[in-house]
Amino acid sequence: MILLCSMTFLFSVNVYAQFNDTIHKKVYKVGQPNIQGLMYVDNSGYHKGFPFEIVLHLAQDENIEIEWEPGTWPQLYKKLVDGDIDILPGTQVTLARKREIDFLKTNLFTMWSELYLSSDAQFENLYDLEGKKIALVDEDNNAAGFVEYINDFKIDYIPVSYPSHEAAVQGLKQGEVYAMVGPTSKVFNKLFKGLRNAKLYFNPTDLNIAFAKNKDKELQRKLNYRLEVYKSNPNSIYYELIRKYSLANYRIDTYVFPLWGKLVLIAGLFLVIVSFSFIYILRKRVELKTRELIKRKEFLKQVLKISEMGGWSLNLNKGEIFWSDELYFLHGLNSANPISVEEMKNLIHPDDREKVLELMDYHIKNRKDFSLEYRVIVASGEIINTRQIGVFEVNEKEKINLLIGITQNITKENLFKQELIEAKNTAEANDKLKTLFINNMSHEIRTPMNGILGFTSMLEKTGLSDEKRKNYIAIIKKSGAKLLRIIDDIMEISILGTKQIELKETKVGLNQLFDELQSIFQIKASSKGLRVNFTKIYSDQDCSLLTDESKLNKILSNIIENSLKYTESGSVDLRFVIENMNVKIYIEDTGIGISKNQQERIFERFYQVQKDSKLNEGLGLGLAIAKENAELLGGDIFLSSEEGKGSIFSLTIPFNRIEDQAEEQIQGNIIESQSIKKNARVLIAEDEPTNTLYLETILNEQSDYCFEIIKVENGKEAVQECLQRDGIELVFMDLKMPELDGFIATQKIKDHNPKISIIAQTAYSSSAERERAKAAGCDEFLSKPIEEETVIKVIRKYL
Ligand code: ADP
Repeated sequence: MILLCSMTFLFSVNVYAQFNDTIHKKVYKVGQPNIQGLMYVDNSGYHKGFPFEIVLHLAQDENIEIEWEPGTWPQLYKKLVDGDIDILPGTQVTLARKREIDFLKTNLFTMWSELYLSSDAQFENLYDLEGKKIALVDEDNNAAGFVEYINDFKIDYIPVSYPSHEAAVQGLKQGEVYAMVGPTSKVFNKLFKGLRNAKLYFNPTDLNIAFAKNKDKELQRKLNYRLEVYKSNPNSIYYELIRKYSLANYRIDTYVFPLWGKLVLIAGLFLVIVSFSFIYILRKRVELKTRELIKRKEFLKQVLKISEMGGWSLNLNKGEIFWSDELYFLHGLNSANPISVEEMKNLIHPDDREKVLELMDYHIKNRKDFSLEYRVIVASGEIINTRQIGVFEVNEKEKINLLIGITQNITKENLFKQELIEAKNTAEANDKLKTLFINNMSHEIRTPMNGILGFTSMLEKTGLSDEKRKNYIAIIKKSGAKLLRIIDDIMEISILGTKQIELKETKVGLNQLFDELQSIFQIKASSKGLRVNFTKIYSDQDCSLLTDESKLNKILSNIIENSLKYTESGSVDLRFVIENMNVKIYIEDTGIGISKNQQERIFERFYQVQKDSKLNEGLGLGLAIAKENAELLGGDIFLSSEEGKGSIFSLTIPFNRIEDQAEEQIQGNIIESQSIKKNARVLIAEDEPTNTLYLETILNEQSDYCFEIIKVENGKEAVQECLQRDGIELVFMDLKMPELDGFIATQKIKDHNPKISIIAQTAYSSSAERERAKAAGCDEFLSKPIEEETVIKVIRKYL
């Protein structure tokens, strides 16, 4: 089929091409009659008149070659009938002619015939032609038309025959005839110029282009098509020629649009404009509202996100559940897979499920709004705490059909609540501790104070033997030391309670620290007949670490002290190992041990196993202080103990290794004593006379020094002395003094003379205080009560 179609198409194209070729190869003969006004050749040889010019344009546009064949109208008409010429332009269409020749389907225009009068002719109506001579041109269509037209009026006129229009015009002008018949004067305006017109128009005849009968059909079709194209375009050459020749009886009708049509059109246009404006405004409003809605939606989303909330609804009639996107997000689920009621039930934590479902059931049955809190397991497996608030929606028939609500993740809120409860508990515990502490204090402080005051008054008695006096003094010293220990512990535990302790990390040599501890506790151990073994297996370099030395010292001292206290025979051993970036220090004793059930509790504040026993001299704070300090250093204390056999306390702290070999100069190195007495000017700034006297006594007891002691009672005087008096080498500066405190006084003195050594002394021994003193310029920091030995060390170090 396709092949057949293609062949037919190719054949058609071929035939068409052949036709085209024949048309374009041939030179067509066109008759050239000379009819002045209608069609003629002017003096310059140009073809003028509508029929000639339109033929020329048609031939040119269709690419057709023509040659002109001049002759008279009758001759040329005959030639056309005989097929000697091909085309005759400007031929009037009549039935008789149609039988002999072909015309284009489309006419050029319609012509009318007219009656022209002689100069003296009187004409009012057709009957004036009665008996008059009328000029008729031979073979003229206008003449034929007149005969036919006048025939109906039965007017008896005298026809006078002329061979051409020119001859007829001549006859009329010369008065040979009363009137003559011819074509419209518009066409023949040159020929009929000056002639009188009877204003009688008749015989409308189409003017067309004629072709030899049944010859060149394709040419006719092409030219006809081209002519129709011209006619359909008001700007074409056709209308240009019509305007040029102002052709009679032919006008381009201008269509007058009716008023009602105009009104309808205007109303329609108005409606269209109004509709468009309305649509535009509507669209803008919709856009604005949509934007507002999106903004609100985003805002709502944000709010829901911040409050970790999502919405849900349960259709109770259908048993269908709907979740908002936020809710799917909250549960880590994909909203593309809608959840079912069963799946939702399974999300409830198994421990809460039964209770929750029971409660829900109750609320649904009783149409009661609810607010529940329960745990949910989300997609990641995480357990979250949720709050569910549900409200019933009642339809117009008072039938519950919808339960809508929200789910909120309240995990953080619960944690916060928990923290608050814990904080409240801590506050309450602290309050209890305070009460306990006050109760304890009364007893613990009174005991040593009793000893001090009691035996001090005993000393006042006269006649005491040396032995008794020494004994009393020893008791006073011991009681004083105990009191000091209590005060220290209280200070320490209250500072630890504030949780605002800053660690002061320095390089600490464990071997050195062990040596110091051994030298301190050896005496006490020996007095009880106990052995002390402090084992050091690492080189100094290998066991230096970065930590807070005073805290480490405190921890170990407290534990060793306990071991010595609760061991009656055997030994106390101290050793340490470094493994996995930790230092483990073991303090092992062969003492009374601690029962399993007490082991957990002995680290609590104020907890004592042997309460009220003679053994117990402390406040029950030692291990609590040790444990809390160990935690501060990033470590912990562990205990393994067996009642009656002994205990092993192990302290673990991070081993922050130090590669630096340089050893810091340990404070208090005693300088070799000098044999020659040394002169020195020393200033004691102290507002408490007892303390001044104490320092003065120690200084004066130094046999190898000859001191000039200047005493002042406030910081202001201290500064004045140092500024005005030369040669002051050492200042004992109390930090808390009237007028000007020790910190500012030190600063001023150091600004004036940095060489003066200033030894701070204070009853406040916190590390913050130490730091402040150091920053002010103090060279040394002594906590009150100051031991004689410490004062001597300082003198020897700085003088
Ligand atoms: P205390 O001031 O009573 O010594 P601690 O906090 O230092 O307070 O110790 C708490 C309790 O732990 C002590 O009262 C004691 O009963 C027990 N304890 C501590 N160390 C030892 C030890 N090495 N051997 C036996 N019991 C100990």
